[in-house]
Amino acid sequence: MNVQAMQEATRDAVKKKFHGKRYLVSRSPMKYPQHLERDYTRITNAYMGLLNDTLREYIPEIKALLDDYRDEAANADRPDAKGKNGDWQEFSRMLRRVLERAEVDLKKKTANFDLVRRLNDLENRAHKYSIREWKRVVRQTLGINIFDDYYDGKFFRENTRQWVLQNVDLITTIPKETLKRMYNVISGGQYAGKTAAEIGRQIQASYNVSKSHARFIARDQMAKLNAQITQRQQTDAGITEYVWRTVGDGRVRESHRHLNGKRFKYSDPPIVDPKTGRRANPGEDYQCRCVALPVFDIDGLTLPWEAEAKQQTK
Ligand SMILES: [Zn+2]
Repeated sequence: MNVQAMQEATRDAVKKKFHGKRYLVSRSPMKYPQHLERDYTRITNAYMGLLNDTLREYIPEIKALLDDYRDEAANADRPDAKGKNGDWQEFSRMLRRVLERAEVDLKKKTANFDLVRRLNDLENRAHKYSIREWKRVVRQTLGINIFDDYYDGKFFRENTRQWVLQNVDLITTIPKETLKRMYNVISGGQYAGKTAAEIGRQIQASYNVSKSHARFIARDQMAKLNAQITQRQQTDAGITEYVWRTVGDGRVRESHRHLNGKRFKYSDPPIVDPKTGRRANPGEDYQCRCVALPVFDIDGLTLPWEAEAKQQTK
């Protein structure tokens, strides 16, 4: 069927729902995939756990090194440490060597983690979830059933493949960079005369910061993926406008709460940050879980639907 014929057939099928008007706001919003966000966070937590395991394995060695190279006053009662006192260059060389070995171990662990496959799975599930949601919203609002395999085509998958690659990059960088920072954390602590226990705590604190950073990425990226898929589905259906809808819980930021219930164009997103003037559609702002309530336009509607399935609607 060509586009024009499809549009006409669709218009006939949904006309009565519009009650003579041109626009019809979706009766329910696309639900935010909270469970996928949780699953992504689980992945990043497990991935960061590999770094934690590695650090734990090497901390005794690092502490011994710190003790060995304490300054003379601190090591006066330790004859075995003789000759190493205050040899900063030697300490530095030894520390780098330990961290290099830790890096090799971390690499082995992460290679077995299969991050690419896990994120691919997640992307797949996000895609399927979004199709299910979109079908539900269309059925509830327009009373028609979209073809099951319509969104399986290449067109809807290209950008999300890109998402997987980008996310693999984002996630793998974090433990690598954290381990690199450890040299400064440890040698800086030693230089400042901190105890091995204190430095151990600093290592843990530095790890914790990175872990929350990974969690931030999981939340942020799941929102972006979801927004990307839904926007593509909606614009493909000829939808150009939406009503902004927040999830309505305590985590919604002030500036987004302000947009709730208002109508915008995908091509002209509202300002989401009054300070910087940054603009975004729902889900595009960092860690945004807001969704777009599609505004169906009977004149531009292009939906591939199954005529026989109409009787399923209420
Ligand atoms: Zn938001």
